[in-house]
Amino acid sequence: GPTPGDPVSESVHGVLQRVFGYDAFRGDQHEIVTHVARGGDALVLMPTGGGKSLCYQIPALVRDGVGVVVSPLIALMQDQVDTLTALGVRAGFLNSTQGPDDRRRVENAFLSGELDLLYLAPERLQVEGTLRLLDRGKIALFAIDEAHCVAQWGHDFRPDYLALSHLHERWPDVPRIALTATATPATHKEITQRLQLDGARHFVASFDRPNIQYRIESKQDPKKQLLRLIREEHPDDAGIVYCLSRASVEKTADFLVASGVTALPYHAGLDTRTRAANQARFLREDGVVMVATIAFGMGIDKPDVRFVAHLDLPKSVEGYYQETGRAGRDGLPSTAWLAYGLQDVVQQRKMIDDSEGDAAHRRKLSAHVDAMLALCETVECRRARLLAYFGQTGAPACGNCDTCLTPPESWDGTVPAQKLLSTVVRLSRERRQKFGAGQIIDILRGKKTAKVIQFDHDALSVFGIGADLDDATWRGVVRQLLAQGLIAVEGDYGTLVLTDASADVLGGRHQVMLRRETQRTAAGKTARTK
Ligand code: ADP
Ligand code: ZN
Repeated sequence: GPTPGDPVSESVHGVLQRVFGYDAFRGDQHEIVTHVARGGDALVLMPTGGGKSLCYQIPALVRDGVGVVVSPLIALMQDQVDTLTALGVRAGFLNSTQGPDDRRRVENAFLSGELDLLYLAPERLQVEGTLRLLDRGKIALFAIDEAHCVAQWGHDFRPDYLALSHLHERWPDVPRIALTATATPATHKEITQRLQLDGARHFVASFDRPNIQYRIESKQDPKKQLLRLIREEHPDDAGIVYCLSRASVEKTADFLVASGVTALPYHAGLDTRTRAANQARFLREDGVVMVATIAFGMGIDKPDVRFVAHLDLPKSVEGYYQETGRAGRDGLPSTAWLAYGLQDVVQQRKMIDDSEGDAAHRRKLSAHVDAMLALCETVECRRARLLAYFGQTGAPACGNCDTCLTPPESWDGTVPAQKLLSTVVRLSRERRQKFGAGQIIDILRGKKTAKVIQFDHDALSVFGIGADLDDATWRGVVRQLLAQGLIAVEGDYGTLVLTDASADVLGGRHQVMLRRETQRTAAGKTARTK
């Protein structure tokens, strides 16, 4: 309840109950809300579902003037405004989707003090007219949502956000609250610098989402693996399936529908009406599975998403955390499931090689993928790894992730690693031709494929020296060597190349420990049921 005799505490509780209909604040909400209501600056790091919106909405309501909310989620502004309007809060938005009449109506409401909250797309702040408009009204506070977008080192940098660094200079007396659900220590620091929030109070909630069970398995037959997850663990549950490309979204959605699952596609290639209709069905109906690119989900408030599945490797741990975080906002048990394979790594490397931007930009993208790979191949608790990535080190093993539930055995993979690296060395002598993991594994296993014969690879001394391990194990070896930086992949064909660290493995100075592939593979399961 409110702190007795503290008028700010009493008034924010009043708004919480009267306007929003909630009994009590959660976590740090009370501290944050009273601090900002009194005119303090704040930086709030809180996981998805933690209740960030109230942190700026309530101070905006108790302070004089209009709360200006900067958000990149243009597609959701109408929804947010409708929700607030239904609660009796006077809200409006300004963004590029609006006609001039709508814009003028909102601007007039702002100037005449008839608004409590004004949502603003960040690019609006580049427009001098908007700045002059803000000068003529009374601003209660600035809320900067998705504040990690200001960080160039982060995974979701938006150049428009850089304009936000000038807010403080232009309106030094207006309190600012910046909020994000993903920030590594480096990103946290960059937000602080760029938004000049060193004087602000920092509220850092735990990033842990204990009700989410994290699981990462290797890709065998991804659609079948997904269907098994849905049928065995989440029949009739709402879920989100993330795919990298529009084409795989369509294919996966068709496959699920043909298998009797209520699934809908969502990607930027669909027309606006179809997208809106699919999103509305996902939000309103029970048990709809949304198959989507990462264009879907930001700011979507559906509390009972029971699973989030990734059929492709996310580009960063931040992205993975943000996307999986859409599961289980209601606090009930939920699953975050990811299937990934060697091809994912090759594809990501290729995308990075092809990406625009300078070497520093590509290095950043690579570092993000490397961190994601390390999470996939860890033998430790996934949650502890994830939390450590966000700066919460030393968390105990959680008991609710795949590595805790079925601890992976590790095995000494030094000899197989040496065999593989030697093969890479042999092939790298063939200047004209580049070979990916597939060819190398065929050589190791002694398979006389057309391509092996074409290049006389059956005459190499390494031909067949890896026949003791099967295909899946070899692919696992390659993935894990990649994750450990003992080998690298390059170019369009995913050519394997040595790294600086490879020599130590070849020279026997570095022991290579690998995780054994888990038993619960699609192949294993099908074999048992047949
Ligand atoms: P975030 O933006 O951090 O992901 P939201 O602000 O969307 O989280 O809040 C998540 C959910 O929790 C929403 O449905 C919201 O209404 C609810 N919520 C937030 N604060 C409280 C509270 N103090 N009591 C009850 N429900 C709350
Ligand atoms: Zn764990």
